[in-house]
Amino acid sequence: MTTAPSRAEAPARPLVEVDRVSKQFVMRNAAGRTSGVVRAVDDVSLTVARSETLALVGESGSGKSTLGRAILQLDPPSSGSVRFDGTELVGLGDRALRPLRRRMQMIFQDPFGSLNPRMTVGAIVAEPFVIHGLHAGAALEREVARLLDAVRLPASAAGRTPRQFSGGQRQRISIARALALSPDFIVADEPVSALDVSVQAQILNLLADLQDTYRLAYLFIAHDLAVVRQIADRVAVMYFGRIVEVAPCEALFASPRHPYTHALLDASPIPDPAVEASRERTVLAGEVPSPLDPPVGCAFHGRCVRADEQCRSVRPPLVAGDDARAVACHHPIG
Ligand code: ADP
Ligand code: MG
Repeated sequence: MTTAPSRAEAPARPLVEVDRVSKQFVMRNAAGRTSGVVRAVDDVSLTVARSETLALVGESGSGKSTLGRAILQLDPPSSGSVRFDGTELVGLGDRALRPLRRRMQMIFQDPFGSLNPRMTVGAIVAEPFVIHGLHAGAALEREVARLLDAVRLPASAAGRTPRQFSGGQRQRISIARALALSPDFIVADEPVSALDVSVQAQILNLLADLQDTYRLAYLFIAHDLAVVRQIADRVAVMYFGRIVEVAPCEALFASPRHPYTHALLDASPIPDPAVEASRERTVLAGEVPSPLDPPVGCAFHGRCVRADEQCRSVRPPLVAGDDARAVACHHPIG
């Protein structure tokens, strides 16, 4: 949640520039022969500005995690370019990547899975400093105390183990560790999806506060649009490995242009139970196509009420409008 840069400033280069990134997984049968290719991410371009939250939403299997990992070079793209603060990351060796890795961190849906249960919280939060040979002794302890305070955990948490904490507190621990090396960019992969709604709000507030304090940019991955609405500046909607719509958050919720975005909004529960009970819904019918048998034309055509012959034969490109929005649809709404 940030304010736009003042108009007097020159338009700054985005912190993260993703250009035509694809990621394929080659599937092999038991004999080791190629049995198919999954295009998990297919020709995706996007940018994330400094201090911006770009939300990436879509159903399970749409390629969100693969894209997040490809951007951070945890599982490098098959093709395309990822620039971070002007430096091309794709093809950069481990050595050259190392100082940049400090500036890009990831947090996950399941903090328990990513926190070593045999380490104390203090050791977990200190680990990035230890790996990078930064701080020792009392200085290291001070850094750990500073980070626990930043995520609003008591200093006494340092001596305990992750098992002694609730899900929300464990997510605070993993956020503290992600903050250790003062990153500029965090990929948060469904960071609140496993938490109760009340706890979700606390973690979202924490992420928003930390963004203001540390000028963080987030790629915030979620399948739940209600969550996205609380935190995103812009939203990119992903379907079957591709971005189908990008828009400022308010605009996307007020007037979705892609029929898939519209269907996702319809499927998202409204917090007011009375409104929720009385409204009519367009059901998101049908299933996501099989990645091993991708449809011709628009990948959404089999589930789309607007689909016609063109949609069944020609894939619609993502076309930018003159209003900071873009949509990949032959028959957009509105
Ligand atoms: P999301 O995060 O949106 O749920 P993923 O990025 O996890 O989606 O997966 C996108 C697609 O890529 C899915 O069809 C998934 O099965 C496939 N996929 C992801 N990782 C691998 C992998 N390591 N090997 C093969 N297929 C994969
Ligand atoms: Mg995922």
